[in-house]
Amino acid sequence: MICVIIGSIAGKITLSGRHFMNNKGIIVVVSGFSGAGKGTLMKELLSRYDNYALSISATTRNPRPGEENGREYFFVTKDEFEKLIAEDGLVEYANYVGNYYGTPKKFVQEKIDQGKDVILEIEIQGALQIKKKFPQALLLFVMPPSVEELEKRLRGRGTETDEVIHGRLLRAKEEGQGIDEYDNIVINDNLDDCVKEMHEIIQSAHYTPERNREFIDTIKKQLSELN
Ligand code: 5GP
Repeated sequence: MICVIIGSIAGKITLSGRHFMNNKGIIVVVSGFSGAGKGTLMKELLSRYDNYALSISATTRNPRPGEENGREYFFVTKDEFEKLIAEDGLVEYANYVGNYYGTPKKFVQEKIDQGKDVILEIEIQGALQIKKKFPQALLLFVMPPSVEELEKRLRGRGTETDEVIHGRLLRAKEEGQGIDEYDNIVINDNLDDCVKEMHEIIQSAHYTPERNREFIDTIKKQLSELN
């Protein structure tokens, strides 16, 4: 009985809250060392839940076997990328191991307005630009269970030269210094658990005061008007 009452009260609060709460989606930045398994995690997250949209970046790197223009990335030339920068068409961009990578602005804005949570799978320099521009963005860092496992996954991909793998491991060493800037970490040791954890973290982020400023201010104003 108590449960029912509490449940209905909680239900009411949530309902009236939803009425006022900002219905926009949030920007979710997902970073992690190359080889941490972000790509697989993102695919799984998107196939399980329908409230996410994955941003497709532009890059000057060459497609890997099996990658398609417009699906994994928009593969562009350096000139085309620099034109995007000049036109202010990117929300952020960075140079990563010799290539440009950037997030097109239009898609992010459209999906946020439609109430979708937009996932940006980007590296740390871009993540920090996003945090500065959009302080309400949620920053997640995907960790491998160990460095040994990370190297194994990178080599197992079999698509990169030793030199590129070495470059990516060195980059991981640098990126490790920035993990404290993120809001949450998730450890990708088990795909299923990791996807569920990510979903829970993202959904609970919708309920923080800083992401509901307008609603809180409305309630405060109404309270201040009470006699
Ligand atoms: P990869 O070449 O392995 O696909 O990606 C290399 C790195 O670039 C990964 O860490 C990936 O998350 C990051 N990345 C992909 N797209 C973007 C982007 O639009 N902006 C930034 N800053 N990094 C990106």
